Amino acid sequence: MPRLAIYPGSFDPLTNGHLSLIHRGLKLFDGLVVAVANNVGKKALFSLEERTQLIQEAVGAEPRVEVDHFETLLVDYAKRRKIHTVLRGLRAMSDFEYEFQLANMNAKLDPDFESVFVMTGQDYFYVTGSLVREVASFGGDVTGLVPPNVAEGLRRKFPRR
Ligand code: ADP
Repeated sequence: MPRLAIYPGSFDPLTNGHLSLIHRGLKLFDGLVVAVANNVGKKALFSLEERTQLIQEAVGAEPRVEVDHFETLLVDYAKRRKIHTVLRGLRAMSDFEYEFQLANMNAKLDPDFESVFVMTGQDYFYVTGSLVREVASFGGDVTGLVPPNVAEGLRRKFPRR
């Protein structure tokens, strides 16, 4: 049986931090399902389709990565996919508290559910989707923080005045 994990997130947009986690996850698992959370209550900069396409383009021809989406509770999605392991990244202490709560809530909702955490390397620990959106919205340079196709997508969202 191949060992698979779900890597869930909003990916609004995909950053090099996310990409680095995907590549590190592939060292731990045979395959990853990158699952884009389609949270209708949350206004996203990039649509679900755009976020999915940006991930697919940036990951390229890697047969061990599938890009999917979900709009339910993560544990219900995991049950439906029959994948009970989730990969998450830890950037800083501030991530820890929320992730600790989430992992325990998910384990309570589904006793088979397991969360695996990978710590961010020093290159990307400060990179978050919301910060990248903010920098780009003010015309700041996001080169090196996001893959080139995402940088291009951000330029289209925030054309220089
Ligand atoms: P963000 O918080 O950047 O908006 P997501 O909600 O899409 O990102 O996060 C999905 C997962 O990716 C979370 O587990 C998060 O900790 C992880 N992650 C986000 N940014 C990074 C990064 N720079 N390095 C490693 N992991 C990250």
